[in-house]
Amino acid sequence: MKRFVSLALALMMVLSACALAEEHYYGKWYHVNGASHKARCMKCGGYMTVDCICLDCAYEGARFALCPVCGYNESGIKAQYIHDATVLLYDYSHAPLGDLQVMKFAAPFGSDSEILAAYSVIFEYAGASMSFDGIYDVSFTVDVEGEFEVLEANGEELSAPEYTLEDDRVTVKVTNSSALYLIKAK
Ligand SMILES: [Zn+2]
Ligand SMILES: [Zn+2]
Repeated sequence: MKRFVSLALALMMVLSACALAEEHYYGKWYHVNGASHKARCMKCGGYMTVDCICLDCAYEGARFALCPVCGYNESGIKAQYIHDATVLLYDYSHAPLGDLQVMKFAAPFGSDSEILAAYSVIFEYAGASMSFDGIYDVSFTVDVEGEFEVLEANGEELSAPEYTLEDDRVTVKVTNSSALYLIKAK
């Protein structure tokens, strides 16, 4: 009991109220009931729930809707956060709002529904994916081999990505203003 009281006191000292909405700084977003996700502010401890905005994507006849913020999808596709993603900006006047977030989706593609890896690359702010106009190099570790392709996303045909693959780390040039990329290794 004593330990619980001192922990509560310590939390009260650390957590102070955020006066403005912009002051919140959310940690990881978790899928909650329905198509929404929830996170806790690391400064004030308050929770925020936001609707998922899914990325529609299609490849070789398979169509999926995936939330690139929390990984929610109705297709039962397993999603996983990639924790070592880094971004290199070329032009600081076009710095994206939000934090880089890369997720891996193990999705059944193609006529034989082979499980392949898709990676979503977004900049997340307050639980939503932000659009941007700039050019960035985004790097992250992949555990699959093969060529990267860009899936058709939200009805857009995207051009083939410029990328390098060194050892197990891919670096992709991200230029699309829709802020959403899905990349498949095969
Ligand atoms: Zn807050
Ligand atoms: Zn979501």
